[in-house]
Amino acid sequence: MALVTGAARGIGAAIAAELSRRGDVVAGFDLSGEEGIYLCDVSDPARVEHCVALVESELGPIELLVNNAGLSVIAPSEELSDEVWRRQFAVMVDGAFYCARSVGKRMLARGRGSIVNITSINATEAFPGRLAYCAAKAALSMMTEVLAIEWAGRGIRVNAVAPGVVRTDLVDEAIRSGVVSEALYTSRTPVRRLGNPEEIARAVAFLASDHEAGFVTGTTLVVDGGWSAYGYAG
Ligand code: NAD
Repeated sequence: MALVTGAARGIGAAIAAELSRRGDVVAGFDLSGEEGIYLCDVSDPARVEHCVALVESELGPIELLVNNAGLSVIAPSEELSDEVWRRQFAVMVDGAFYCARSVGKRMLARGRGSIVNITSINATEAFPGRLAYCAAKAALSMMTEVLAIEWAGRGIRVNAVAPGVVRTDLVDEAIRSGVVSEALYTSRTPVRRLGNPEEIARAVAFLASDHEAGFVTGTTLVVDGGWSAYGYAG
């Protein structure tokens, strides 16, 4: 079975739907939500441990963990509050670690499993006003590599998917409030459109599959419509 964090909406919901379409039993962790969602704030290590044990007792061994829960707050770095800085790290770095540790030790005991972390092009591409987000995604990217090489010989693969700009509530809210421009995002993306959550979900399903990606570990699959390859001026 598969566990997806941040599964109540957006990319996480699309990943859960794609995995269940492929025949997996799927559970989600989120702050709220309905069917298949366990109420679990991933930044709370005791709650993560409790909910991972609960999921396994109800649905069986977790064979795939997708660390997707995240948030992005756009603000000038000199005005970034302690709270906003900390929350982004607490969810995307601490939370991914707590889930990987809790699920990982169970996978190691069974000698099999796969973890996919949802990073971002912002793990490698600096955007103004996103200091905490970019730094947190860079940390999650390195976490992917360290866990991969530590656990590779023990049956666990650890990879990442780095989305470019994807049309979800997170991005729609930023477009609506005027902090980002859809026209700018579209023109900066070589394929000339935003991604959709299902395109990220299919990349996750590929990395999750031992059959399709059994020799793939410690890597990041960039799904960004060409954004990070683009280096020209106009
Ligand atoms: P979203 O805001 O639509 O969904 C994020 C989900 O995570 C929400 O359901 C939210 O409740 C949940 N969540 C937040 N904090 C949580 C916590 N502490 N515990 C459990 N769940 C929590 O965002 P999205 O656009 O679907 O993004 C999903 C992931 O993809 C994030 O990690 C984001 O950084 C990453 N990403 C998104 C884009 C994009 O353009 N949308 C691009 C690159 C990376």
